[in-house]
Order: sequence, then C-alpha cells, then structure tokens
Amino acid sequence: MTNEKTVVLLIEDEPQMRRFLRITLEGHGYRLIEAQSGQEGLTEAATRSPDVVLLDLGLPDMDGLEVTTAIREWSGVPIIVLSARDREDDKIRALDAGADDYLTKPFGAGELLARIRVALRHLSLQQAGGEDPVFALGNLRVDFAKRQVLRDGREVHLTPIEYKLLATLIRHAGKVITHTLLMKEVWGSGYSDQTHYLRIYMAQLRHKLEADPARPRFLINEPGIGYRLRIEQEEDR
Ligand code: CA
Repeated sequence: MTNEKTVVLLIEDEPQMRRFLRITLEGHGYRLIEAQSGQEGLTEAATRSPDVVLLDLGLPDMDGLEVTTAIREWSGVPIIVLSARDREDDKIRALDAGADDYLTKPFGAGELLARIRVALRHLSLQQAGGEDPVFALGNLRVDFAKRQVLRDGREVHLTPIEYKLLATLIRHAGKVITHTLLMKEVWGSGYSDQTHYLRIYMAQLRHKLEADPARPRFLINEPGIGYRLRIEQEEDR
C-alpha cells in the first residue's frame, strides 16, 4: 500500500507530541491534519474524512472518550488512542467505546507506524468485503470454512470455546481487544466480569499453539487491558 493519499487526523494538544508525530508521519509520506482540541478534532473528522485518527485522551475541552463516542455515531474510521500511563481506565473505556487500538506515551516511531499499518489493513479488508477464509501466521494456519487449525502442518484440536476465542482474536488481528469485548464476543454479554475464564482458555490456547507457552509469540497479554494477536514484530520494543 502506498502512503501517498493516506490522511491521518491527529487530535492532540501537546506541541512536542504533535511535532514528533508530524516529523514521523510526514517523513513516511502520510498526509497529516492537526487538531488541538476535541471540538476541532470532531469538525476535522467530519469534514476531511481521514483514513486514521490518532486521539489523545487528555484534551483541554473534552475527554478523548467523548470524542471516540461522538465519532463512532457516524464513522467507522480506525481510532488509535494515545494515552499517558496514569489514564489506564480511560484507555479501556475508549477501547470499549469503539477505539481500535492504543499507544502508551512515550512510544517509538516504529511502534506507531506498525499500529497505523494494522489499522489500515483492517480498513481495506472491511472495504474488500470481508476477511480471507484462510488465515496464516508463522507456523499457524486456520481454515475458517473447514473450522480447521493447523500448527506446523498438523491439525490441532480445539474445543468450541478455544476455537471461538482464536477466531475472535484473528478477526481483530494485530489490535488489542479488551477483556470486556472478548468476553462479550466469545461467551456473550452476561459474562463480561468473568475474566478468569479468559485467563484459563488463553493458557490452553497458548499451550496448543505456541512453541513456548510461557513466552508467547502470537497470543500476547496486554496487562490490565486485554489481549492481542501479534501479526508483526514491533522493532522499537
Ligand atoms: Ca493532552
């Protein structure tokens, strides 16, 4: 994919942060629109139809969570929230409100660019009318039509819940999914507080799919937030 026409809307009030992002994104051929407040950001989002939104959670006029909710009323544009470490709860609420991913400040350029690529890939898949029926990642292969999971070419037997959990992670591949959203998608809305189920089933999945379950390569824990199926190595970590 060429970055030439990719428009990134940055909603961020800190000048140094905007400067860092401007240098990084323009240096990689993205077109950047900057907004310094939530209200300005909403106006730009509505009038300039960006391909990706980078949203700071601590804005002077409104909460980033409100901005996420407002954008989601009319747009499915990928939203990556930028947050400070002390705003963990806001980050989770923003993800549950429909944000696609998050970056905790400070973050490196490589990490930012990787997250933007993932968000854009999801967008182009949605526009193409759906995901591929076969998903391949490293030594792992999932055929959704046959409900078959192969590891190093050998079939792995998953329980229905394990399969559903894996399929959900693949549907959101590369992006973080909060505990609440995962519980809702796999078990249904009545179970959202039973996050210990998730730990148990994730451990089983790692045991069946990871070469070293204690040091997972794909099934990544995002402490306090949720899980992520890692689809590319992040060089800046
Ligand atoms: Ca801020």
